[in-house]
Parts: sequence; structure tokens; C-alpha cells
Amino acid sequence: MKLLLIEDEPSVVSFIHRYLTEAGYDVSVAMDGHSGLQMATEHSFQLIILDVMLPGMNGIAICKALRKQNDATPILMLTALGSTENVVAGLDSGADDYLVKPFKQAELLARIRSLLRRNPDSVANTTTNVNHNANVLKVADLELDLNTKSASRYGENIVLTATEYRLLEYMMRNPRRVLSRMEILENVWGIDFNMNTKVVDVYVNYLRKKVNRKEQPALIQTVVGMGYMLKEEE
Ligand code: CA
Repeated sequence: MKLLLIEDEPSVVSFIHRYLTEAGYDVSVAMDGHSGLQMATEHSFQLIILDVMLPGMNGIAICKALRKQNDATPILMLTALGSTENVVAGLDSGADDYLVKPFKQAELLARIRSLLRRNPDSVANTTTNVNHNANVLKVADLELDLNTKSASRYGENIVLTATEYRLLEYMMRNPRRVLSRMEILENVWGIDFNMNTKVVDVYVNYLRKKVNRKEQPALIQTVVGMGYMLKEEE
């Protein structure tokens, strides 16, 4: 398992590097924003641990740049600030999860394992022998191909990050049903997560922007006071 750590504080780098190496991961390190983005672009990693405050280019900008290149590598963001604004900005830029410094070693490992487990790429090879048509979820004109892990609407491709994919898959497996924020959190992020349901709102909005396109009927709907529902507009 190859991981990339982009972090500028030597003590944090040495702590994370030692800890993850002991846990059996192959860890590469970049200590400024530009070299981090370059390494992430030129090499293939299973996961990127990305600090927000970095010299040269910050973590939010790196994350945005990678997602713009359609790079869906899971990104775990490290923030020292822990404010809601920073967390939302990080997730909005395409990060899959975040960890507030200082964090416990066990928590870092748990988040990494959890992200690696959910990365669609890591299970891509398990469905290759299955009949193609049987592996497409369809709600109205929205399609999700479980083999290729790709979504499309009216035949137009929708580029999704790993977390957006899991969220959409969960919603498409439960169409026309109100899904509470807690239900979504538990099924998409996992019950072991001591996470605020705010992350659900952030991601549903993110997905909604991609799925509910202009001049097309809205599919992802807010049910005020209850949660969200995937359903055709009446
Ligand atoms: Ca830093």
C-alpha cells in the first residue's frame, strides 16, 4: 500500500512516517505544496494524507487541482484549526475525510483503513466476471455502473470522488425513501466515525451540484426536517 504524506512540520512528518511504516505502509513524503502536487500527479498512491497549511500551495488548492485532473485518490485532510469553515472548505475541495490535529495514532490508522476499504478502486477487480447489465443501478435517467464505478445522466458522464460515489450508490440502492442524515452517515462513512452530520449536508450538496443539472428534473431532494431522498420531481 503506497501512501503519500504532504506535511511541512518535521515533527509531524517523522511521527506519521514512523507510525505508518511500522503499520506496514509504504510512505512517501513531500514537505511543501508544489512538490506534493507534483508527486501526487506523477505517481500513483492508494491514499494521500494532506495537511491544509503548507508552504507554496495549501492543501485545499492541492485537493482541488487533483480533483480537477479527475484524480479520485482518497484524500485524508489534516487540519490544525478544527473550525467548521476549514473542515467544510476541505471537504468541498474534494477531500474524503479529515482529522483535526493533534490526533491519536490509533485514530489516524482507523481513518486510513476506513478510507482504503471504501475506495472503489480497491474492489474494482472483484466484479469483472459479473454480467454487465446486472451491475447498473438506474433511477430515472441516472445510471451508476458498479463495474466501472462511473455515473452518468442522459448518457453524460459525471465525475465522482470516492466518497461521492459511495453516497450516490447508497442513495440509488434506496430510491424514493427518505434517508436521515444519521442513516446516511452510518452507511456511507461508517458507525465507527465520531463525525458530525454536517459532513452529510456538505456531500449531498456536492453531489447535488453534479447530478441535478440545469434544465433537468432534480433527483436529489431535501426533505425538510427529515433528510434527503433520491426521487424524480413530480
Ligand atoms: Ca502545516
